[in-house]
Amino acid sequence: MCVTAHPDDECFGFGGALALAADRGIETYVLCLTDGQAGTYRGDAKSGAELGALRRKEFAGSCQVLGVTHYELLDYEDGRTEFVDFSRAAGRLVERMRRFKPDVVITFGGEGGPNTHNDHMMVSALTTAAFHWAGREKRYPDLATPFQPKRLYHITTNFFIPGRQAPLPAPWTVKLDIRSVQERKAEAFRQHPSQGPLMEVTRELFEKYGGEELYTLVAAEGIQAARLTDDLFEGLVG
Ligand SMILES: [Zn+2]
Repeated sequence: MCVTAHPDDECFGFGGALALAADRGIETYVLCLTDGQAGTYRGDAKSGAELGALRRKEFAGSCQVLGVTHYELLDYEDGRTEFVDFSRAAGRLVERMRRFKPDVVITFGGEGGPNTHNDHMMVSALTTAAFHWAGREKRYPDLATPFQPKRLYHITTNFFIPGRQAPLPAPWTVKLDIRSVQERKAEAFRQHPSQGPLMEVTRELFEKYGGEELYTLVAAEGIQAARLTDDLFEGLVG
């Protein structure tokens, strides 16, 4: 299960992990909190609502390219998620975790990704709380049966966006080689024509760093020291 903030996060950030999971027959669920109405790049949309509707379609197209099994877009306001009712929003994530029962949950890190977007930071905080609360009987007792996912990973980075104030990302514990699905990740991004200019802006970075995705294991069963692996599902899936 992958929790994101905006249509295009699913491919821009997590596309390699999702496509690799699909290739192994692993069921995936992308849950996106907003429809991206406040996006900088707006295509031909004449209003926020029009852009939101367009980006919902783009999101569906991208998820299909990545082989995502279930995808859902919630209705939070793009750019304003830091003002949501935290408990209620986390509850919506808890409910979906309890129903879908993911082994592995992936989301943004607390720094908000290379662009340090506030919505990415909030998705990180909400998903992290929901991951832990999903398995607790005393939390949200009316929302489905408690279920504890096994692992939580935050995506992290080994590059910064030139010309911008650098964030403080977490050190990675998983280096995913995504070269076998790199073209599919790019194809998923092409399902977001309204975000075409972003692709131009980031082309060089992706040419240089696009063969891998980096993640940090932030919660897991048992007690352990951090160690470097190359698989989000190590020991869970053959
Ligand atoms: Zn985003």
